[in-house]
Amino acid sequence: MTPEPAVTSGPAGSGVLAFGAAWPVADGQSTDQAVSGRTIRYGFSTRAGGTSVPPYDSRNLGGAVGDDPAAVAANRAGLATAAGLAADRVVWMHQVHGTTVAVADPPVRRAGAGEPAAILESLPDCDGIVTTATGLGLAVLVADCVPLLCGDPGAGVIGAVHAGRRGAADGIALRALDQLLALGASPDTTTVVLGPAICGACYEVPAAMQDEVEAALPGSARQLTEAGVGAVLIDERCTRTDPTLFSHRRGAPTGRFAGLIWMPGVGPDEGGAANRHRGVH
Ligand SMILES: [Zn+2]
Repeated sequence: MTPEPAVTSGPAGSGVLAFGAAWPVADGQSTDQAVSGRTIRYGFSTRAGGTSVPPYDSRNLGGAVGDDPAAVAANRAGLATAAGLAADRVVWMHQVHGTTVAVADPPVRRAGAGEPAAILESLPDCDGIVTTATGLGLAVLVADCVPLLCGDPGAGVIGAVHAGRRGAADGIALRALDQLLALGASPDTTTVVLGPAICGACYEVPAAMQDEVEAALPGSARQLTEAGVGAVLIDERCTRTDPTLFSHRRGAPTGRFAGLIWMPGVGPDEGGAANRHRGVH
């Protein structure tokens, strides 16, 4: 029904790829997509394995939800390590429910030990980010909103998007696709993964907002399919009912989990020691 996807994956349990599986932080494994061009890896974190105390237990990655900053920093560093990335090689957006999609251009300055990733200083507030850099993780923080990850391995470009109801209705998924295309991607060789989010049945809204919500939740997938994206994969887990994930609707105040996507490799100023054990490129 759609062109052969450049990034191969499938529903949970359908093959060797663990699409939709919880991020196995313990061993650093994530969905591995090896095709011609760049290898793209991605995963979604869970509540497990972190250091935060309730109600942020335990791997809260959100820096603006009231959690101890030291715990958040430790949780973020742990996730980066699990991905084979240095802590300062993961970009965490300052998300504002807007439609700005920023480009993270290499080279990325390194932050001093213990400091937040310096790349944040050069990024505007945004809800989407794309890059052609290898060895650079792009993270999107969510707790019911849709974490959207996308990439074209042939073109060597990836993106991470916070597709909340507002942003999705305003077309942020298409804006992110536009940025991918501007960096060399082709729609038919681009794959998009919509990560765990609150499901429609759990998302009760006034009747007047029904159309808007429809445009937001399955809407991003529909928008992208209509735009010719080769594969749109949906992780069916519902954040409100899955206790392994953070859900604002179920338990605010609470933490945030992340969708993370990256192209393993040696960055311009990073030795890549953490990547070498993966045997990529
Ligand atoms: Zn649900």
